[in-house]
Amino acid sequence: MLHESGRHFLQLPGPTNVPDRVLRAMDRPLIDHRGPRFRDMLRGLLEELGGVFGADRHVFVFASSASGCWEAGLVNTLSPGDRVLAFVNGFFGARWASVAGRLGLEPEVVEGDWRRPVDADAIAGRLAADARGDIRAVLVVHNETSTGVTSDVGRVRAAIDACDHEALLMVDAVSSLGVTPVRHDEWGADVTISGSQKGLMLPPGIGLCAVSSRALEAYERAGLARAYWDWGDMLRSNEEGVFPSTPATALLFGLVESLAMLREEGLERVFWRHGRFAEATRRAVSAWGLDNYCADPTAYSNAGTTVLLPDGVDGEAFRRETRARFHVSLGGGLGPLVGRVFRVGHLGDFNAPMLLGTLAAIEMGLRTVGAEVAPGGMEAAMDYLIATSG
Ligand code: PLP
Repeated sequence: MLHESGRHFLQLPGPTNVPDRVLRAMDRPLIDHRGPRFRDMLRGLLEELGGVFGADRHVFVFASSASGCWEAGLVNTLSPGDRVLAFVNGFFGARWASVAGRLGLEPEVVEGDWRRPVDADAIAGRLAADARGDIRAVLVVHNETSTGVTSDVGRVRAAIDACDHEALLMVDAVSSLGVTPVRHDEWGADVTISGSQKGLMLPPGIGLCAVSSRALEAYERAGLARAYWDWGDMLRSNEEGVFPSTPATALLFGLVESLAMLREEGLERVFWRHGRFAEATRRAVSAWGLDNYCADPTAYSNAGTTVLLPDGVDGEAFRRETRARFHVSLGGGLGPLVGRVFRVGHLGDFNAPMLLGTLAAIEMGLRTVGAEVAPGGMEAAMDYLIATSG
């Protein structure tokens, strides 16, 4: 293995680069997680988290990866055998539906086109046919990190309302929180799930769920077994400024810092910045003569771009060479897309020179594995960055 000088670029669509400020905030002695300093920290943290989710009620914080909160959302609101309507337009939507099945729910999958956003009309069609109201929840992924497709959650809400259906709306905002607007209350979402390692710029290890009052009412009736994920235990403890079990204290130090960074920059500016780097990436991809996997320009993701590789190019070999020779880690295809695409993350703590370094490494990697790429990708990205600087 060659010695690597400088920083390795972690350009996966999560985990993302952890800013130095956050690293420093975590690099300090732990405090008593049942003491007064911790209580003060937790109170401030919970208040500030609501702002990022656009949520007025409690945001649950678990020591877990984001998938833990898929489970938390389901076990706290539903009962064995309940039907859930899961729209699947990518790898993560499929995983969430399978988690529901393994927990003893009855997932009814609406298979979507993986290159397109959630089809709210298809959801409306299924709900309209459910005259008895057997479907208890609708699951949608806001930003499908596997495909680089962002969906319009507001349209899903409107579809549920148009059918006058009682189903809870559960939204996976794992790779959209802190990247593109997440509006839990405005969407009328009942559970919105996220994790620490994407737009929040932290290491993996914290799972989050924002909830609605309907979700908290559903908690009272829900019959699935729950222990670690029990919202009731968490709520009671959080009200006293503690957690039911040992929290991820160092990650919480980091979260305080990353929320301060988002506040200082301003969320609108954060969203704009993500849009800018995403667009510069797309311009490079199209100048290279490659296709964005997302086939709907209104649904392009500001978190990550999934790029279709030319026929005959092995995506895994391309990623291996790019990582080893040019020190940039890119995401690979997931599920049926293994080897056919690569995924470039442009979310989190990121700037123009990091983007250009990433794009240059991609072009070098593609050329190394013999992929035919047109020249001009870097120029296209630079032109856009210049035009939108300042
Ligand atoms: N949902 C989406 C959209 C994701 O991108 C991911 C992970 O990348 C997950 C869920 C699962 O998150 P975790 O790996 O933190 O459990």
